[in-house]
Amino acid sequence: MKVTIDKDACTGCALCEDTCPDVFEMQEDIAVVKVDPVPEGSVDSCKQAVEDCPSEAIKIEG
Ligand code: SF4
Repeated sequence: MKVTIDKDACTGCALCEDTCPDVFEMQEDIAVVKVDPVPEGSVDSCKQAVEDCPSEAIKIEG
């Protein structure tokens, strides 16, 4: 599984980093994806972060 973040949509709330810190990291005021692909052990929390993102900025790319 791979995830990407729409930088224009991200509001920098940091919820994804809180939910899945192995995959998401705040850089200045937006979140970035720091691993590709998402490690097996982080898939569930990553999907949770996708669901919870208030601006729907995180997309799963397969
Ligand atoms: S949860 Fe969504 S809006 Fe919040 S920092 Fe992560 S990608 Fe950005």
